Amino acid sequence: MALSADERVRYQRHLTLAEIGSAGQERLKAARVLVVGAGGLGSPAALYLAAAGCGTLGLLDCDRVELSNLQRQVLFDTAAVARPKALAGAERLGALNPDITVIAHEVELDAANVRGLLGGYDLVLDGSDRLATRYLVNDACVVLRRPLVSAAIHRFEGQLFTYRPDAGPCYRCVFPAAPEAPVANCAEAGVLGVLPGVLGTLQATEAIKLITGLGSTLTGRLLLYDALEMRFSELRTTRRPDCPVCGAHPTLREPKDSPMPSDGVPTGVRRLSAADLAQLLRQDAKPLLVDVREADEYEAGHLPGVLHIPLGELPARLAEIPPGAAPVFMCRSGGRSLNACLLALRANIASPANLEGGLRAWAASIDPTLKVI
Ligand SMILES: [Zn+2]
Repeated sequence: MALSADERVRYQRHLTLAEIGSAGQERLKAARVLVVGAGGLGSPAALYLAAAGCGTLGLLDCDRVELSNLQRQVLFDTAAVARPKALAGAERLGALNPDITVIAHEVELDAANVRGLLGGYDLVLDGSDRLATRYLVNDACVVLRRPLVSAAIHRFEGQLFTYRPDAGPCYRCVFPAAPEAPVANCAEAGVLGVLPGVLGTLQATEAIKLITGLGSTLTGRLLLYDALEMRFSELRTTRRPDCPVCGAHPTLREPKDSPMPSDGVPTGVRRLSAADLAQLLRQDAKPLLVDVREADEYEAGHLPGVLHIPLGELPARLAEIPPGAAPVFMCRSGGRSLNACLLALRANIASPANLEGGLRAWAASIDPTLKVI
């Protein structure tokens, strides 16, 4: 995969980096990467991979561009509204870099087609906003032994995770309770437009590192990003020997479609509004409240009687939640606490609840004196 004279000019800033050089750029040229979801995450990820000279780029999406997508889906311009995302996106990527091959997949991923589609690529980036798709893609990547960079966003927060077949846990090891996963989609929850830009660009960074062998990847680490606090944190995770897909005795040998609740909300997690929680707290039997924010946020203001366990410490401190407690998790805006609910489910803590909208919603509708930073 030697580089042409034009390519040597186009990628000169890469070639100047000794860590990439001609060998790394040729690896990029030979790479085949599939971007699942041409949305807020897939847009920046695909643009940067096309610009970086990723030789074959697949773009998979079955939706059409809507005007409300343009707030964050920077792959599209206003003229693309109503066009199929896969086709409009592929045209844009081809215009950015005519030296690469871009393949538009205007299909909905399901158990019947996932192996065939993913099998044609070396590496998969998942930026889909459907929880069922996230698990389907993970399971297919494990079965096909393809590395996967998976990202998700929720309102002001995002998470990123890299699976490598030769090392570390898969997405289902971290969040085994499929289809119970943390993220309502953007249409339901709203999202800060620039947030997927950050996460999608990080996905492209991981992809380039996986292809060129540079640096170390987010294998065994779940990266959490909080745009309001401008804070990155990470949860260390390990492969679960009993994981149904990558464990010692897998029971999921073929990717399967997951039944999804109609509103896309985790089925094992109770949803509490601030008003619901206020009502619960008026009863005699008070629920266990667990605040999963960082120490400085907690110290600025919290509900009385809460157990404080920052999300990053939760896996090691789940034993502090008494059996049968049905805890109510809370954070600032409801994203981290939804992750906490999933970690609780994983530890067989029954019926965890999420304070939807977090303590910001509480301060807005119940107690304006609560200081939430
Ligand atoms: Zn696993």
